[in-house]
Amino acid sequence: MTTMLEQYAAVTGEDVIRHLRQLAAPLQGKSVVHVNSTRVGGGVAEILDQLVPLTRELGIDAHWEVISGDRDFYQCTKSMHNAIQGNRIAISDALLQHFEEVNAQNAKQLQAVLEQADFVFIHDPQPAALLKFCPRRRGQWIWRCHIDASHPHRYTWRFIEKFVRGYDASIFSLPQFARRLPHPAYIIPPSIDPLSDKNIALDTEELASVRSRFDLNPEAPLIAQISRFDRFKDPVGVIEAYKLARQYLPNLQLVLAGGGASDDPEGEAVLAEVRLAAGDDPNIKVLVLPPDSHRTINALQRLSDIVLQKSIKEGFGLTVTEALWKGKPVIGGDTGGIRLQVVNFHTGFLVNTPQGAALRIRYLFNQRQRMQEMGTKSKQFVRDNFLLTRQLREYLTLMVGLHH
Ligand code: UDP
Repeated sequence: MTTMLEQYAAVTGEDVIRHLRQLAAPLQGKSVVHVNSTRVGGGVAEILDQLVPLTRELGIDAHWEVISGDRDFYQCTKSMHNAIQGNRIAISDALLQHFEEVNAQNAKQLQAVLEQADFVFIHDPQPAALLKFCPRRRGQWIWRCHIDASHPHRYTWRFIEKFVRGYDASIFSLPQFARRLPHPAYIIPPSIDPLSDKNIALDTEELASVRSRFDLNPEAPLIAQISRFDRFKDPVGVIEAYKLARQYLPNLQLVLAGGGASDDPEGEAVLAEVRLAAGDDPNIKVLVLPPDSHRTINALQRLSDIVLQKSIKEGFGLTVTEALWKGKPVIGGDTGGIRLQVVNFHTGFLVNTPQGAALRIRYLFNQRQRMQEMGTKSKQFVRDNFLLTRQLREYLTLMVGLHH
């Protein structure tokens, strides 16, 4: 049976795994606990699901604990999440009190594990108050913030900050997401898992079946944007770019794929705008996919010649990483984390307007050789910078640094 490390080595190369082993050497037998608030759903759970067993294979005693709470707790933490990302939501003192109590109850359950661990990674605000209730802790505590905390609602941030100040370090995804705290802050960008359904290599039959399922012509050029139907992702701008490019590429096809919008009234409205802009053009496919369509999305990204992510505002933009990993040049909006991934003229192009995007689409289809070269660079760029193994490497480096 192949180990996980061997499976990753097959994708990343032996050197990456050797480097991980080297970093893990001084941490042999040390205990690490990751704590978040859900075992399934969301990017954090997805990453921990692989990261924890991978850490164990490196000889580190890693565990993953999940806190539990009632409806009021999750209502409070949802508001907290939105408030930290800048929404002006006031959370009642009673709810904040409840937040603290739920953290206290969870701390009681997890006390032995948390107080004994050499390293504790607390993910996001939900379990942030656990530290307060583990007075005899002996290890290093790190607050891992996955959200954009650059412009939080002040009152809510002050409440969370009280707990977070006591940590030994914090981690943010991008420099512009970070807050000033009285301990070292580390910047560790997100990553994708190359072995997940979303990113694993697919065989030609599977690709062909997705192609025919959505009635795509294998002979004609294809561009795609995979995104929630959200105005910040500018799907209507993508249609405009497509219409401009089509003047030169008459059989160009466009796929706009996003999740169901039933629980999001704005999503429905944006979807309606998209359908209106698409009109009855048979070469535009607007696809509303169920939430577990990872392999379908994987296939659509692989079937495309170019992937667009024409966002006007973006956090990191995992769809960009996913597309680059599939060897596609990405034409992306010049904003947020897209700038970190789309290296202009190398892994794709940064654009500000539909006209700019159309120009780049036309250019790449006229320079097939260039498209290929950019695709090769794109994949290598993700291999070097945005795979799960890189994130693990940075966590290990951080632990070695904090370890006395
Ligand atoms: N995604 C998906 N189904 C969809 C649209 C998007 O599974 O219909 C995935 C996409 O592949 C990516 C994530 O959702 O992994 C979106 O992350 P990103 O950072 O690009 O944007 P966000 O939605 O977080 O703003």
